[in-house]
Amino acid sequence: MTHALYYGKQTIEQADIEAVTRVLRSDFLTQGPIVSQFENQLAETLNVAHVIACSNGTAALHLACLGLNITADDEVWVSAVSFVATANCARYCGARVRFIDIDPLTANVSIQALSDMLQQAQQQGSRLPKAVIVVHLGGSSCDMQAIHQLCHPRGIAIIEDACHALGGHYQQQPIGNCHYSDCCVFSFHPVKSITTAEGGAVSCQDPQFAQRIRLLASHGITKDPQHWCGDTAGISPGYSEQQLLGYNFRLSDLQAALGVAQLTRLEPWIERRHQIIHRYRQAFNSILDMQHILPDSYSAYHLAIILCQDQQQRDQLYQSLAQQHIFAQLHYMPIYRHPYYQQQSPEDFAAYPGAESYYQRALSLPIYPQLSDIEQQQVIDGTLSSIIACRRPKFATSNR
Ligand SMILES: *Cc1c(COP(=O)(O)O)cnc(C)c1O
Repeated sequence: MTHALYYGKQTIEQADIEAVTRVLRSDFLTQGPIVSQFENQLAETLNVAHVIACSNGTAALHLACLGLNITADDEVWVSAVSFVATANCARYCGARVRFIDIDPLTANVSIQALSDMLQQAQQQGSRLPKAVIVVHLGGSSCDMQAIHQLCHPRGIAIIEDACHALGGHYQQQPIGNCHYSDCCVFSFHPVKSITTAEGGAVSCQDPQFAQRIRLLASHGITKDPQHWCGDTAGISPGYSEQQLLGYNFRLSDLQAALGVAQLTRLEPWIERRHQIIHRYRQAFNSILDMQHILPDSYSAYHLAIILCQDQQQRDQLYQSLAQQHIFAQLHYMPIYRHPYYQQQSPEDFAAYPGAESYYQRALSLPIYPQLSDIEQQQVIDGTLSSIIACRRPKFATSNR
């Protein structure tokens, strides 16, 4: 083994380097014309009315919560298994976070668990959440239609954390078109579908919501006469006004140029990820299960998630791969297990059988467009030899 393999990695080509250096030689490093170009191209890709680019996926989640006016008086319900930022954004607004159990095979929010929580809240007369945040784990869509059917009639807003899912589809539509949600959030961190180094975006259909997010991402200040609400009698040219407490969550032109260049290769990159998954599935066929994908979902395959028999087999595999410099990773420990969230509200882990089962079994193997066939074969060989060394057939039954 000559070099280490990681679960994800960016692809940078000559066109990316040229796009970025062009901006370096131009008049604007930030707040120039390239950010809107990136936003427009992203909106076209997502088949959505509005895209607001911002500094990273975490900022995009924070903006989504601020945009929905989530406050310390609110509850936000979040899928139990995700990156912590999916829950932290609600905490930034002071809201109470409650977790929704996942389906242990799809790793996405369990519709049954969400439905049970809603019913229980109504029976007990306790509060309904102002919003739910669901994550398309590994790039594979949640059952958005069912989530919408549960939330919409109750006036509960829906945020899609699509940080894994750029390039994925649901019901033949791009994830991010917000057909079943209020807004959708993306990240362009180097391990994601495309990168701007750091970067993120919010997509939405509602023009007023989009304008609010735009304000919040740039100090709450507007220069646009159409949107002024202050006393503009006798103002001087160059007038701008702050309307609400915003942040500096902007993306720079330097980063947006990388995004524009990367976005042109999104489709072939996702196709390559599908090829890699297909090969893993064939190789592991009767020996190892992989993440289950909904029939009406075309995954962006941010992650290649295998599901081992149990924690012992998973931990052995992790170590055995690491010895061969193949660095698999677990995505993710359930958020409620983190000390910060335990301090917020101690949880009985047994209340989340789906998340606990997934947490014991899951492991993400290397997947990215430039992973070569030879490298993938090394991962497959390393995985199979470790699993077979464990010598326990997949469908073993205890009473025979
Ligand atoms: C990457 C990621 C984020 C955060 O994005 P950053 O750009 O790193 O801030 C949020 N949620 C999920 C599910 C992610 O994978």
